[in-house]
Amino acid sequence: RPRALSGIQPTAGSFHLGNYLGAVRQYVALQETHDAFYMVVDLHAITVPQDPKELRANTRLAAAQLLAAGLDPERCTLFVQSHVPEHAQLGWVMNCLTGFGEASRMTQFKDKSAKQGAGATTVGLFTYPILQVADILLYQADAVPVGEDQRQHIELTRDLAERFNGRFGDTFTLPAAHIVRETAKIYDLQDPSAKMSKSTANPKGLINLLDEPKVSAKKIKSAVTDTDTVIRFDPENKPGVSNLLTIYATLTGTGMADLEQKYEGKGYGALKTDLAEVMVDWVTPFRARTQEYLDDPETLDSVLAKGAEKARAVAAETLAQAYDKVGFLPAK
Ligand code: ATP
Ligand code: MG
Repeated sequence: RPRALSGIQPTAGSFHLGNYLGAVRQYVALQETHDAFYMVVDLHAITVPQDPKELRANTRLAAAQLLAAGLDPERCTLFVQSHVPEHAQLGWVMNCLTGFGEASRMTQFKDKSAKQGAGATTVGLFTYPILQVADILLYQADAVPVGEDQRQHIELTRDLAERFNGRFGDTFTLPAAHIVRETAKIYDLQDPSAKMSKSTANPKGLINLLDEPKVSAKKIKSAVTDTDTVIRFDPENKPGVSNLLTIYATLTGTGMADLEQKYEGKGYGALKTDLAEVMVDWVTPFRARTQEYLDDPETLDSVLAKGAEKARAVAAETLAQAYDKVGFLPAK
């Protein structure tokens, strides 16, 4: 079986719809075809300030949501990044292979640091893509399921894997981004030119999966569309409507042509009302399942402990090879 690896941040409160459609849905699908490793990336989370108590709670919350979304610990390895120290260890080696200019070209860093201001930006935020390189290479991953915004970081991973292999001999598998075109970028409901993101300026554009279903329904009903009335999938000219259609098609498994036909001659109001209902029907059981996992933290923690043990076995072997190739003296 090919390997898959991905990670998601322990976001305060809830995953959002972009996380689910762009990434988590693919995690669930790849369990069937891949030897899959998924982790809650708490090391990445501290690139911005975190309250310790909240970080711990949000880490459990993220794991609970992953299980509620359909990850099955019998069919994949689910763990917490900080439980596997090899991530930070290989991260350092990768830092030492990365050019400063190369790291400076990462557009996510430019965007995020511009939002925060230079005074608040940490070196950790600057080097986080390089830690991500280590995350992926440790598992010799073939496929990395992510949204479009991560494409550049996967390219960096391939570059660094090639550089290491070229300099020290074949060690790492070159991974490929697994990006599903239709859902690679879910847009902000209020600004369909921007990606839906937890750090949006306008919370009305962001669907948090664990919000009251009523709140999410309302956000869908007030989504920005256009002054035309035709319901057609046309991302270039009708980005708002097309985003709603993508969400609808993906959550219900309906083909785009069938959807367009269903709404022929109907207005945006009908589409939004129906999609709001689809949304409520999806989030209601998702919220209940998440709560069940949260209500049983012992089981949750034991899933994560077993996952870390499985992950570590793989990660430790790769790290030992890499350390040896680099020329570190064995400890014994
Ligand atoms: P931030 O904006 O702070 O980076 P985020 O919303 O991107 O946060 P992450 O934990 O960084 O959350 O992303 C988890 C996964 O979700 C990544 O694979 C990312 O590519 C994907 N993702 C995030 N937003 C979207 C989106 N709007 N559409 C599709 N995929 C997305
Ligand atoms: Mg992100």
